[in-house]
Amino acid sequence: MKATLLTKRFVRCPHGCAHEFSVEHLSHYEDGRQFGPWFCDDCGRGWNFTKMPDGFDVTGDKKRMVFGKVILVLPPQTEPIYFTLDSSMQDRPLVDREEGLQYLYEQHSCPVNWFRDMVEMQIGDNKDPHGVLKFVRYFDVESPTTTVAELGTGE
Ligand SMILES: [Zn+2]
Repeated sequence: MKATLLTKRFVRCPHGCAHEFSVEHLSHYEDGRQFGPWFCDDCGRGWNFTKMPDGFDVTGDKKRMVFGKVILVLPPQTEPIYFTLDSSMQDRPLVDREEGLQYLYEQHSCPVNWFRDMVEMQIGDNKDPHGVLKFVRYFDVESPTTTVAELGTGE
């Protein structure tokens, strides 16, 4: 089977960042149509886009993204907390699969890699446990890639 090659158009952040604004879905709009502001994931600057016959005119916006981080803490619990995650894989015997998953979740990976797959959290019979995590503090940061190690927990 021959693969189909696709070309998609984007605009790089005019500030010089690597961030790419996809404009492929705007090609059918009339010239002069304005979009934005859209915000760069790298520098946070806002940009307005105007459809032109030969592409887009891009101008800076006075609004910008202010990057932040929030620290939450899970206080000591009296009951175990169960997390249900989405887990799809190629078909394998159940024993091999369970050994592989035990290694993955207990030794090989950090929870930050799989919390995005969480579909449910349960404490006792409570599958809607509000208030489990406690707010610690908020930080403004220069970049979305700033880590807690650089900030400290504030405690
Ligand atoms: Zn940028």
